[in-house]
Amino acid sequence: MSTYDYDLLTIGAGSGGVRASRFAAQYGAKVGIVEQQYLGGTCVNVGCIPKKLMAYAAHFHGEVEDARGFGWQVEKAVFDWATLIANKDVEIARLNSVYRRLLDGSGVDILDGHAVIEDAHTVLVGDRRLTSAHILIATGGKPTAAEFPGSEYAISSDEFFHLDALPARSVVYGGGYIAVELASILNGLGSEVTLIYRGAQLLRTMDADLGVFLVEEMRKKGMRVLLDTRIEAIDAGEQDSAGCAVRQVRLSGGASLDADCVLLATGRAPNTYGLGLEAAGVTLKPNGAVIVDDQFQTSVPSIHAIGDVIDRIALTPVALAEGMVVASRLFKKGADSAREMSYDNVPTAVFSDPNIATVGLTEQQARERFDDIRVFKSSFKALRHTLSGRDEKTLMKLLVDAKTDRVLGVHMVGADAGEIVQGFAVALQCGATKAQFDATIGIHPTSAEEFVTMRTPID
Ligand code: NDP
Repeated sequence: MSTYDYDLLTIGAGSGGVRASRFAAQYGAKVGIVEQQYLGGTCVNVGCIPKKLMAYAAHFHGEVEDARGFGWQVEKAVFDWATLIANKDVEIARLNSVYRRLLDGSGVDILDGHAVIEDAHTVLVGDRRLTSAHILIATGGKPTAAEFPGSEYAISSDEFFHLDALPARSVVYGGGYIAVELASILNGLGSEVTLIYRGAQLLRTMDADLGVFLVEEMRKKGMRVLLDTRIEAIDAGEQDSAGCAVRQVRLSGGASLDADCVLLATGRAPNTYGLGLEAAGVTLKPNGAVIVDDQFQTSVPSIHAIGDVIDRIALTPVALAEGMVVASRLFKKGADSAREMSYDNVPTAVFSDPNIATVGLTEQQARERFDDIRVFKSSFKALRHTLSGRDEKTLMKLLVDAKTDRVLGVHMVGADAGEIVQGFAVALQCGATKAQFDATIGIHPTSAEEFVTMRTPID
């Protein structure tokens, strides 16, 4: 009989925490989960889900325009921000309650409040002192704002999802996932967007061709993209008649521009502040991330951590997989309890306009790790745009190890890239060769078939 209140006490009811808790409970553990804000964490409330819903909304703008080329007479489409936000909020509330039902249904106790870890087995939640054999930190991350004079006049992605109105002119600062996604949404919904990035290449952790191609496509869609540019300061301006404060954004190089909204998408940081981790003996990286080993164990053996808070790969499906490893290792009985986490071939999509998706190595990584690689690349106008009138191109790229013929990387910029690359991620997991790609019959006419019909390497 355990002398603790719980076998597992999870701090943070986001994707990873909920998954680990539910499965631990299914494996027979007595589980509690502490949450101070909302069930579902970043992904459900201020991340993947509202972002994707709003990306759908933004796409309709182009779809309505495209329809004319196919014979549809479309009146001028009018977008209503308030309707989108209200409908989105209804869906998020539904998902919050789904999460609550899933936890309740698994027998997990939901504890509202802020958790502070007192020692290896004790957590304070408000005035309650709870003990647990194991503690799991799954507190995720939060936006970090670049600092410069006037940065307090800018918003983060958290506030973006609750703006009262669509800004007429938006400045988005950053060159990562969130910057390109939210800039694309704002542009699609009708805001006049300037994306400002301090570096030369957007999405610089991805294959270099993707960022270059994306900039060209974003510019064709009317976005202004300023590279190698920094925001030096924001000056607060007068409130306009609609109550929006006009900001003047001063840029490196001396130029300035006016905006109704400045959104900083300058990165995210692990959420570890105020949890009592250091006092409890949990070692952190300088950026606040929890240090864990291969089993997600921290420097305190009874405390584990998963998800964005460990700052490995900040993606929901990765946090889910990490949560499964912890739940299995701690509580599952039987031969398959010793699950391992692999970070190889993690596919990812960026819901910019156009979408990007990628799995495997970038060209740069492939060249560093393999003596001889073959590069296959194709850029083309998708069939749909022969009639839509849109000057939009799709990019597809394959990287192959010349020695073994194994496909090392699959990269795409274009419509539905995430939907397409998910299947190719399975092929890469199976170690598929280029010959097997070539032997696969294409589905015609699709863009995806290009991945199995590229025959001539460019390098
Ligand atoms: P990223 O790390 O992707 O991008 C941060 C950007 O901000 C970089 O371009 C960085 O520039 C820039 N930046 C950082 N500090 C400063 C500064 N002081 N001044 C100016 N620019 C600065 O972070 P995001 O917040 O966009 O996303 C965080 C993570 O969340 C992603 O890495 C991804 O794992 C996940 N995510 C996933 C999504 C998806 O799956 N579709 C969607 C959104 C987020 P530089 O490149 O020069 O360092």
